[in-house]
Amino acid sequence: MEKTIKIDIEKMVRENIKKLTPYRSAKEELNDEDAILLDANENPFPVGYNRYPDPFQRELKKAISKMKEIAVEDIFLGNGSDEIIDLLIRAFCNPGKDSILINTPTYGMYEVCARINDIEVLKDDLNDDFQIDFEKLFTKAEKAKIIFICSPNNPTGNVIKQNIILELLENFNGIVLVDEAYIDFSDAESFANYINTYQNLVVLQTFSKALGMAGIRMGMAFANSKIVNILNKIKFPYNISQLNQKAALKALEDNNYKAAIETIKTQRKWLSDQLNQLEIVVKIWQSDANFILVKFKNHKEVFEFLKNEGIIVRDRSNEPKCEGCLRITVGKPLDNLLLISCLKQFERIKFNYYEKNTLS
Ligand code: PMP
Repeated sequence: MEKTIKIDIEKMVRENIKKLTPYRSAKEELNDEDAILLDANENPFPVGYNRYPDPFQRELKKAISKMKEIAVEDIFLGNGSDEIIDLLIRAFCNPGKDSILINTPTYGMYEVCARINDIEVLKDDLNDDFQIDFEKLFTKAEKAKIIFICSPNNPTGNVIKQNIILELLENFNGIVLVDEAYIDFSDAESFANYINTYQNLVVLQTFSKALGMAGIRMGMAFANSKIVNILNKIKFPYNISQLNQKAALKALEDNNYKAAIETIKTQRKWLSDQLNQLEIVVKIWQSDANFILVKFKNHKEVFEFLKNEGIIVRDRSNEPKCEGCLRITVGKPLDNLLLISCLKQFERIKFNYYEKNTLS
């Protein structure tokens, strides 16, 4: 059943996009595998990749549809989720005029894509538990065309409460994008289950995290087919290469990622427990993602020390409410062990804890 306040998605689209005649390729309609292809000025001599790829990635979408139980028409694939973020902004927001709303701290590309497109970025800080305060956010939402919600959120790692997102979906007169890049590391229900209930909902997922395929750049959007059609209209004709379509299909067939997810979750718990025992750690936030946000007493020195030892983590200390924080990705068991041993070494050198503890 379709709930939601009445939104005419097509009316929300920018005027120039409404009027746009999209580029069409003959491959969009191609069903005959034996056809003689004299349509696209390709080199006819096969060297493996002499043909343009399927512009709508039909085989891959079928496999995703089966895995996610989502209709093929409700799936859009991008060159990473980053491409989809950019396309959504370009479809719905008029440069120099419209705005998006983000909940800070959050993933940086929402703001970067908006600014590239000359779109104003409205911000609302998450509360001290890194949750959305609905009333506060909603008063800022009036002018926005798209609200970006990242859940589990990057860099904080927590899931945003489901009832708050539902409340937004029911009351916000624009697009609500729920970025679920890290959903497979959490037990939370995916909002993909609601795309047929809320026509203003777009859910983003990616091959880059739990599926272990960051190198191929493959992002997925799940949404009402009206939104998918708009994205199809403005995307570059062959935005996903044939190599990448094949690699993504193979990853789904091989089904190897489930064991990795379990290991990462176990290691996340181990890493949190270990970090908790360190004197230099001020706070660790519970994470539903494959990283942990950690506040250190002297994060800059920790960051540099780790870097000199060949361990790279992400300094998030300039983000709102993240003062003194480093974001640490959960690595392989040995990586995590080395990280903890380096941090212990730092503690010993810096604070002489070893001496203090053994001599007293
Ligand atoms: N969303 C979030 C929340 C992310 O953290 C990232 C990448 N770190 C992305 C999207 C981008 O994903 P992709 O690799 O699919 O472009």
